[in-house]
Amino acid sequence: MPQEILQQYFGYDRFRKGQEELISSILSGRDTVGIMPTGAGKSICYQVPALMLEGLTIVISPLISLMQDQVDALRMNGIPAAFLNSSLSADEYRATLSQVYSGNVKLLYAAPERLETESFLHIAEQLPISMITVDEAHCVSQWGQDFRPSYLKIAEFLHLLPYRPRISAFTATATKEVCEDIVRILGLHDPFTLTTGFDRENLYFGVQQPRDKFHALMQIISSHPEQSGIVYCLTRKLVEQVCEELCENGISAVRYHAGLPDEERRVNQEAFLYDRVSVMVATNAFGMGIDKSNVSFVVHYNMPKNLESYYQEAGRAGRDGSPADCILLYSGRDVRTNQFLIDHSSDNAELDETTRALIRQRDEERLKQMTFYATRQSCLRQFMLEYFGESAKNYCSNCSCCKTNYEQRDMTLEAQKIISCIYRLQQRDLQFGAAAVTDILRGSKAEKYAKFRFADTLSTYGIMSDVSEKLCREMIRHLLAEEWISQTGEFHVLALNRNSARLLREKCTITLNVVKEAPPPEKKTKSEAVSEHPELFEELKKCRAGIAAKERVPAYIIFTDAALRDMCEKLPINEMAFLSVSGVGRRKLEKYGDPFMDVIRTYIKEHPEI
Ligand code: ADP
Repeated sequence: MPQEILQQYFGYDRFRKGQEELISSILSGRDTVGIMPTGAGKSICYQVPALMLEGLTIVISPLISLMQDQVDALRMNGIPAAFLNSSLSADEYRATLSQVYSGNVKLLYAAPERLETESFLHIAEQLPISMITVDEAHCVSQWGQDFRPSYLKIAEFLHLLPYRPRISAFTATATKEVCEDIVRILGLHDPFTLTTGFDRENLYFGVQQPRDKFHALMQIISSHPEQSGIVYCLTRKLVEQVCEELCENGISAVRYHAGLPDEERRVNQEAFLYDRVSVMVATNAFGMGIDKSNVSFVVHYNMPKNLESYYQEAGRAGRDGSPADCILLYSGRDVRTNQFLIDHSSDNAELDETTRALIRQRDEERLKQMTFYATRQSCLRQFMLEYFGESAKNYCSNCSCCKTNYEQRDMTLEAQKIISCIYRLQQRDLQFGAAAVTDILRGSKAEKYAKFRFADTLSTYGIMSDVSEKLCREMIRHLLAEEWISQTGEFHVLALNRNSARLLREKCTITLNVVKEAPPPEKKTKSEAVSEHPELFEELKKCRAGIAAKERVPAYIIFTDAALRDMCEKLPINEMAFLSVSGVGRRKLEKYGDPFMDVIRTYIKEHPEI
């Protein structure tokens, strides 16, 4: 049954990881917490059960400016949804309420501030509420990166209700404290909690440390012609500066930050969502709840304050599953700016001194981890996933470290040589640090080793003469980091430990990411490259743009780029085939099937060779 709803309303033929489990938990009546990365598909997890349950689902969401879009997208799929927030006029508010009372609405979006109003409590008394869904639930926790005091009102609202509906909560933040806070503050009863993998395979992660950030940015933008992208800057001033410079360089860009008048923010956001401009330059004020599915790149012009924010913001790229780039332009100054922002933060002014100090300490620790990411030499994805508590391979092949700088090399043999050398030295009661062991392995003729007569007496002397000094040191560092050998004493001499013998005896494989000798020029994967018929793709985009303009909605709300690409692959020219396109449900088939199939028919006619 959930499967049918997914197909019928959303046009998808299978659930993504975790969705099914979360949905069946909700349907069984249990409180449910879903922790999934941005873009993984949290909304479906409450929208599908909302359609199946008797009564109304209330969705609490932090950003009123985006409710309209969310509701439009649902209505587009034939789902009766509405929102109540302060952007409605008194008449609109009344009209929506009467819709709700008549039972014609299944999903009602509301900001937390609304909950305590009388009209809201009245709804709860008059109508069966089947579920309360708390979106972006981490906002309830002051340990989260996005604490919103208004979220605390949710618990108060729940207490005021004459009965307790099931509660579901969703977030992309998975730290232990935040999860515990969600359960405790929202008063969830023995919730089913599911965390899906955090990896988003379609995202490429890159870090650059360019001398000229603007130049680097221009290069990234020009490698994504006519594609949408977001550029995040740390300060409002920089947003304005970068946006202005981009415009001067002929890029269609708009800006967004909390210091701009509401009207300008609204207009700019809309221009970006509707693909009228391709680049949005913004502070972190932009983006929460943005479901623009065709964002092809997210560039961080500065390093953000922590990895939680980074992953959330970068995760706004490639939501429809197409390949997308997330690039951080790092400079040492970013660390200082962030430290300044932590030192001068007035975010938690209402909290007591001890709590504030604790939060500050955590912020500093987070900043440190973020800096580790930005300066790291090996797999970025691994670092990020491990930060979020997942185990990960040390080579992902889709980050700047793996892809451009590094290759994985089997160093088992070299590791055995290094260990043998330390062992032989120990046998002779000799202990050396990493530098000297490197010299010995490489057969150094330096004067200081002459008295030991290694060349005649030590079998491991010079057995790594074909390995560069740098690489040899790197290997020793790796063995130390992975605890295959140890360092002891005041002079950090190398010593064997319990693992060392294992390495010689058992069949362990040791791999190291090493700098590629001559990295081949990187070939960009463009989203468009996936499309089998680029000309048709363009025609379909035109058709979509025409309809979007007529209906005054963003193009991706009609069909995502991924759906258009699927059309290019499947070339559907009848209803059954069109329904099999990913993202085409019943309603969209009825509404838009014909014009799109006409485009495809024409294309096939013009290309009889297909
Ligand atoms: P999140 O809230 O987790 O950031 P969304 O709920 O906005 O993510 O979903 C991201 C995108 O993935 C949306 O365009 C959504 O329609 C799409 N999506 C969700 N579930 C599926 C599915 N089962 N199959 C295909 N696409 C899906």
